Amino acid sequence: MTGKQDPVLIVGGGIAGMACAISAARNGVDVEVIDKYGPMATVGIGITHAANVLRVLRDLDVLDECIATGGPFDGWVFTDANGENRRRVDMPRLAGDDKPAMMGMTRPDFARVLTSGARREGARTRFEITVQSFEQDESGVDVTFSDGSRQRYRAIVGADGVHSQIRPMLFGDLGAPRHIGQAAWRVFMPRLPEINDLWLCDSGQGGKAGFVPLRSDLMYLYLTDTYSEPRPPEGDFAEILFERLKVFGGPVGECRDRYVRDGREILWRMFEFVDLPPPWHRGRAIIIGDAAHAASAHLGQGGAMAIEDGYVLGEELGRHDSVEQAFAAFMERRFERASSIQRWSQQICEWERDKSPDADAPGLTAKAFQLVQQPI
Ligand SMILES: Cc1cc2nc3c(=O)[nH]c(=O)nc-3n(C[C@H](O)[C@H](O)[C@H](O)COP(=O)(O)OP(=O)(O)OC[C@H]3O[C@@H](n4cnc5c(N)ncnc54)[C@H](O)[C@@H]3O)c2cc1C
Repeated sequence: MTGKQDPVLIVGGGIAGMACAISAARNGVDVEVIDKYGPMATVGIGITHAANVLRVLRDLDVLDECIATGGPFDGWVFTDANGENRRRVDMPRLAGDDKPAMMGMTRPDFARVLTSGARREGARTRFEITVQSFEQDESGVDVTFSDGSRQRYRAIVGADGVHSQIRPMLFGDLGAPRHIGQAAWRVFMPRLPEINDLWLCDSGQGGKAGFVPLRSDLMYLYLTDTYSEPRPPEGDFAEILFERLKVFGGPVGECRDRYVRDGREILWRMFEFVDLPPPWHRGRAIIIGDAAHAASAHLGQGGAMAIEDGYVLGEELGRHDSVEQAFAAFMERRFERASSIQRWSQQICEWERDKSPDADAPGLTAKAFQLVQQPI
């Protein structure tokens, strides 16, 4: 038999998994997180936390630590390819008047803050281990791990990202990742004095480049770009990115000329979409974060939806004795919001890819901002 005191297993110690661990532990749930990789294995450049993320980070009690290591700012600057025709949009300070509206962080810094937050709240963490198989019955889940050990849990949470192992174990091919021909380039560089917000510079030819402040001395440059195949382009990344950025002048052009030199420092990643039909649970197992609804970075909300998922699921697991009721309450609070963001990101991605004359990315972005400002 299992009861409310028995542990919940979270598979995947990324953004959704660690947010869920912190939230669940703060709500009295005994929780264990496992990850296939080591604790400092997080790769990637940086992440933008939108206003709705800061609100959740505050409620998980990790916001001040994030601000201390990251680059806080208050809005977006939209420009043309030459950094002209600037329009600034202020974001609301949803975490409180004394906190910034938004911020950027390096991915490893964010992983470190979330992992230490989860441990501080009492969540147990194990790395370099995964699930080999699991079997459910009416009262619990028996899990066999990759090291051969076995344990029984109250519930299992698949927070293991786009290429989830748990999703196909529950749903087969449903929600398998798809690419639709758009990718992102990203590279660290010293922060320019005028970059005090998230910049988005429209090439006028489909792609967009810009900057995200990460610390007082660091930012990253990004470019969204179109590729028909889900493979990195062949050749020297510095040469390819330099060429792709040629259409830009202003700060993007300046940074291209000064800093796009070493291909080893440049990351290329295809956007992948997951749209798992509801409900995202079967019995005592549930899928959250990118594993359920991965989106592109066009709205800067993929990680935001993952954090909100984790926060809400932790609350509901703490609130209900019945796992079934907790999962139903989670779906009620999460499905419409996360799937709208997923759909709208895909729409912007398609508009960019197709250089669509009907594109209204600013209109759809404003609609998304309205939605995510609502309480979860
Ligand atoms: C180019 C790009 C830029 C982006 N920029 C932003 C942004 O600025 N802001 C934003 O909010 N979002 C952004 N996103 C989206 C964001 O990165 C994702 O939505 C977010 O990482 C999803 O979190 P997650 O926890 O669901 O998955 P992940 O972060 O992928 O975490 C999954 C975890 O599960 C682990 N794992 C995987 N398989 C297993 C297994 N079998 N067993 C155990 N553990 C496993 C992994 O090691 C990892 O730790 C961007 C995405 C891309 C591609």
